[in-house]
Amino acid sequence: MNDDHDSGANDDVRMRRFAYRHTVAAALAWLDAQIRPPGSVLLPLRLAAGRVLTADVVSDLDVPAFDRATMDGYAVVANSTEGATAYNRLPLVVIGDSLPGRPFEGPVEAGQAVRIMTGAPLPRGCDAVLPAEWIENEASSLPSISALAAVSPGKNVGRCGEDIVRGTTLLRAGRALRPQDLGVLSSIGVGEVPVFRQPRVRLVVTGNELVPSGSRPQGYRIADANGPMLTALVERDGGVVDFPGLVSDESGPILEALQSPADVIIVSGGSSVGIEDLAPSLVAQHGELAIHGIAMRPSSPTGLGRIGERLVFLLPGNPVSCLCAYDFFAGRAIRALGGHDKAWPYRPVRGRLTRKISSPIGRLDYARVQLTDGFVEPISVGGASVLSSTTRADGFVIVPDDSEGFAAATDVDVWLYA
Ligand code: AMP
Ligand code: MG
Repeated sequence: MNDDHDSGANDDVRMRRFAYRHTVAAALAWLDAQIRPPGSVLLPLRLAAGRVLTADVVSDLDVPAFDRATMDGYAVVANSTEGATAYNRLPLVVIGDSLPGRPFEGPVEAGQAVRIMTGAPLPRGCDAVLPAEWIENEASSLPSISALAAVSPGKNVGRCGEDIVRGTTLLRAGRALRPQDLGVLSSIGVGEVPVFRQPRVRLVVTGNELVPSGSRPQGYRIADANGPMLTALVERDGGVVDFPGLVSDESGPILEALQSPADVIIVSGGSSVGIEDLAPSLVAQHGELAIHGIAMRPSSPTGLGRIGERLVFLLPGNPVSCLCAYDFFAGRAIRALGGHDKAWPYRPVRGRLTRKISSPIGRLDYARVQLTDGFVEPISVGGASVLSSTTRADGFVIVPDDSEGFAAATDVDVWLYA
């Protein structure tokens, strides 16, 4: 075993063990300093759902652009219905129709009415709509109706600009667009919006023992669990995944993958200091391995660095470590690069611990837990290889590195998996 810590300029970090572990805070500080403002692209509305606006959207229109009926009925001069009741019917002469998009042209005077549909422009001279159920048709003379009730001015009328007043800032930069936002944008005549470019994320899933997801593991081979998991995580966080297939534990193929066109490279497996752990040395030789070894459990053999403009994440192959390291580092960067909030997309809830969680000072712990009726039950299996522990878990509790853990019956924050 070569445990030589003093090899100076030697970039081969293998079999040296971690001489030093960075704190999670130091790793995050390095990472946050690497995030450059993301670029912007103009997208048609139909492709913009979930994307993040790079600029405020200000309406240069009033919506609606005209006064309109908010009910089916008769547009009238409100004053001319004054005093109308079921016992004191007031006659009105119907002089035409106003339909959505096909207004009644011409003025309306007291004593006259225009049959109007919801959304249709209010004719000139009218200031109210008498709902259809407040009138009675006079069977004898068709164009004539009787008002059975009075309406006050403005009744059942949607005013010009009632929805959106010209000059209003409708949506602010940084907004992740919801389906209804697209509807509102369309209503002010916007067809394209400026949004942050999505980061391209190359997945480099290594391990000679792996068979591709979807195939049945045979003998001593195991099926790739991290590829599908990372694909879903990256897509959840707004990245575009490039995952052309598994990569063998050999320098040539790993180096080639590390140099693919991408904003972010995520390597799964081979991130530690064993003889098959090639990626850390390759990153150190061809770029910068800024962080390698982090004081956390799981995921301590995590590496962060750069190769050219690419941000590189070396995640341990153990699936739980891989998930945890993604959650702490890669996910944060991918969200930030796409203009999203870098905070976890998980909702925190408070709950009471059923058993203590202990953790040494100087190490951050990511403890999977189940949450039942407000009680938080730590999942006892400790192994980072037990991926099903994350499936059984409802979420996780973080024990910070300056804490020895939490006593039973303490209230803690649980981050619920989304
Ligand atoms: P490594 O980080 O490459 O040393 O791998 C640590 C452990 O995780 C080994 O038992 C690997 O077989 C396992 N492992 C590595 N990659 C994957 C993967 N993509 N899916 C499931 N298990 C993996
Ligand atoms: Mg491996």
